[in-house]
Amino acid sequence: MRYLKIKSDKIHPFLERLSTYGALYGPVKISEEFYDYRKIDDVKDVAFEYTRTVTPAKKYVIPTRQDMFEFDMDTNEYRETIGEVEPFVLFGLHACSIVGLRILDGVYLDEYPDKYYKVRRDAGIIIGLSCLPDEYCFCNLRRTDFVDIGFDLFLHELPDGYLVRVGSEQGHKIVDENQDLFEDVNNQDIQNFKKFERKRHEMFQYQGSFDNLRYMLELTEDHPLWDRESDKCLGCGNCTMTCPTCRCYDVQDIPDIDGVHGKRIRYWDSCQFRSHGLVAGGHNFRETKKDRFINRYVCKNAYFYPLGTAYCVGCGNCTHFCPANIDFLKNLMEIRGISEGVYEHSR
Ligand code: SF4
Ligand code: SF4
Repeated sequence: MRYLKIKSDKIHPFLERLSTYGALYGPVKISEEFYDYRKIDDVKDVAFEYTRTVTPAKKYVIPTRQDMFEFDMDTNEYRETIGEVEPFVLFGLHACSIVGLRILDGVYLDEYPDKYYKVRRDAGIIIGLSCLPDEYCFCNLRRTDFVDIGFDLFLHELPDGYLVRVGSEQGHKIVDENQDLFEDVNNQDIQNFKKFERKRHEMFQYQGSFDNLRYMLELTEDHPLWDRESDKCLGCGNCTMTCPTCRCYDVQDIPDIDGVHGKRIRYWDSCQFRSHGLVAGGHNFRETKKDRFINRYVCKNAYFYPLGTAYCVGCGNCTHFCPANIDFLKNLMEIRGISEGVYEHSR
C-alpha cells in the first residue's frame, strides 16, 4: 500500500481540490449535539471530530425515496427514470461505515446487480477518516474498526496532519494530480500513527469477541429479555433508519390523476414497522412487536459470508438514536452470557 502525509495546513486546500472531482459531501455539525452528512459548500464546515451522524452514508447510494420508472397503462409501456448520476465525493467515512457500504455492495451487486444502486455506487469517491470511539461504539468486537479495502483514500489523524493510505486506482490518481499537497511519511509520523492506534484500541469500553453470537441468538428464543425489551420498543424504526447496513425498502406505484400514467417508486422501509411483514390476504409474517424486535437482532447478527463478518458493524447508532433507550450492545452481551442477567434456558 502507498502511504503519504498531508499536513494540517493543507487539509482545507485538499478538500477544495476534492470538490473538483464531484459534489463534496461530509460530516457537518448541525446542532449542539448532532452531526450529519451534508453537501459541503464551505470546506471549513467539515467536522473532523464527529463520531456519528444522524443519517448514515447509505443515503447517498440508496436514497430515502427514489423513482424507478414511469408507466403508461394505455400503451403498456414504461420508461426508465434512472438517469445519470453526477460524480460525488463522500469525505470522512469511518471504517465501520466503509464496511457497511461493502456489505450493501454484497447485497445489491453480487448476485443480481441492482442498477439503481450500481449507478450511484459507481459515481462515488470514498475518503475515509480515522476516529475515536464513544461509549456506544463496538466496532472492535465486530472487527470493523479498521479497513483494508473499500476506500479511495483513508486519512489517519496525526498531531500535525494526517497519514494517508491510498486504496484504489482513483486514490492514486487524486494524489498524483495533487502532489503539491502531499509529502513522504517519516519515522515520527509512523510512531504517531502507532500511538493513535493504541489509544483508539484502549478507548473501547468492551473488549473481547462476538464470535458465535449468531448461534447464541438462535438458541435463546425463549430468553426473558425479548419480552422485557420489546415491551419498551416503540416500533419507530429509528434503529433501522440510522443503521449503515439496513437496506429494506418498499415499492409503490403512484398513479397520476388520469389513472393511466404513473410512476413506480421505492423508499426506505423498516422491519420494525407492522406493515413490513403484511402481505395480501392480511397475513403478517411478523405479527407482534416481539417478533419484529427479535427479527432485527437475528438479522443483524447473521453472517455476511463474503466478508466473514456480521451484518452489524458495531457503530452503536441504533442504541444512540433509540428513543426508548434500548441498548443493543448490552442486550447482545446479555444474550451472549457475558454480562448481568445470564439466564438458565428452558431447553
Ligand atoms: S429505535 Fe428503539 S424504540 Fe424505535 S423501533 Fe428501534 S428498538 Fe424500537
Ligand atoms: S445494528 Fe446497530 S450497531 Fe449494528 S450496524 Fe446497525 S445501527 Fe450499527
